[in-house]
Amino acid sequence: MESERFERVMAVMRREVPDRVPWSIWGHFPAVDWLGRYSWEKSTRDGEESAASHIALLRELDYKMDLLKVTPYYRFMAMQWGSSFDFRDNREDAPTLSTVVKEAEDWGKLWVLNPKKELREYVRANEILARDLRRMPFIYTIPSPIIQAMNGVGTPERVLEDMESNPDALRQGMETITETTIDFAKACVDAGAAGIFFGIGGGGRIWRDFTVEQLEEYALGYDRRVLEAVDCPIKMMHICSTPQGNAEDKGLMEAGWFKKYPVDCINWDAHEYTWLDRAKEIYGDRFAVCGGLNRVTTLRTGTPADVEAEVKKAIDDAGEGGGFMLGPGCTVYQDMPRDNYNAVGRAAIRYG
Ligand SMILES: [Zn+2]
Repeated sequence: MESERFERVMAVMRREVPDRVPWSIWGHFPAVDWLGRYSWEKSTRDGEESAASHIALLRELDYKMDLLKVTPYYRFMAMQWGSSFDFRDNREDAPTLSTVVKEAEDWGKLWVLNPKKELREYVRANEILARDLRRMPFIYTIPSPIIQAMNGVGTPERVLEDMESNPDALRQGMETITETTIDFAKACVDAGAAGIFFGIGGGGRIWRDFTVEQLEEYALGYDRRVLEAVDCPIKMMHICSTPQGNAEDKGLMEAGWFKKYPVDCINWDAHEYTWLDRAKEIYGDRFAVCGGLNRVTTLRTGTPADVEAEVKKAIDDAGEGGGFMLGPGCTVYQDMPRDNYNAVGRAAIRYG
């Protein structure tokens, strides 16, 4: 792709100094309150709805993001296998009604989903974005297989029990989910995505409830297969965490454990645990870092001036030497005001 924005982002991915610090904000755009006309539920079965909502959001902003991250409902593969979720009033949190895997033997009933059949609409969203954005690079969100197994295909309780009592059944399910994820991620890149946003952690519970050995087998083991199978310019990894399930519980972030992942860039909620400058010390020789925007407080309820101050602080703390991009951790809330999106863009130009 020939574009100034793409080159800016790629300089960061190579851990070089960009012409200015790039920024991106991601959320469940079909559910964004001030966008109004799009359906979160419909976007899970209609690639056009998903693509159109992302384009509409970009068009409504006064400043251009440097990278678009496309965020589908992250249980979209589970939906194809038969899990159901409660979409209501366009609320972005669509709680689980039932999961396809209820008992250990159900892992064996999953099949590899076809990007041309069951996952067609999600690939189509990539095709439409590639056609209509042209010089705006975008990456598509790919959830880690174990996170899908725990949140949507099955439940955390099912996975935790099967790791102990039925590991072969669980491994069979993980194989199917992993093969599906690989095929789908490749299809997104073939359709024009500049890369993938690979979400691990799923709220952070695995960091708390899995042993390091279990993380190495069931998270890293399958994640690595996905990441190594996909060839694309941008591999950004999201280390999902919350204060309730914090990576600090095992000191994984501080220990540099995430260096085992073959990615270009890491992203996490830097306000919840390790701050940007410390993360750069630990990971800066391997990964670019992306983060610094607090989706829970500043972006959601702060004033534009608060947001601008936060951008300045993040750049002051992490911009030196390059390899840094501004972003939130997890998705921003659907009620984050439009003015605060603009404040990030304005401040990135002013301070970046
Ligand atoms: Zn997250």
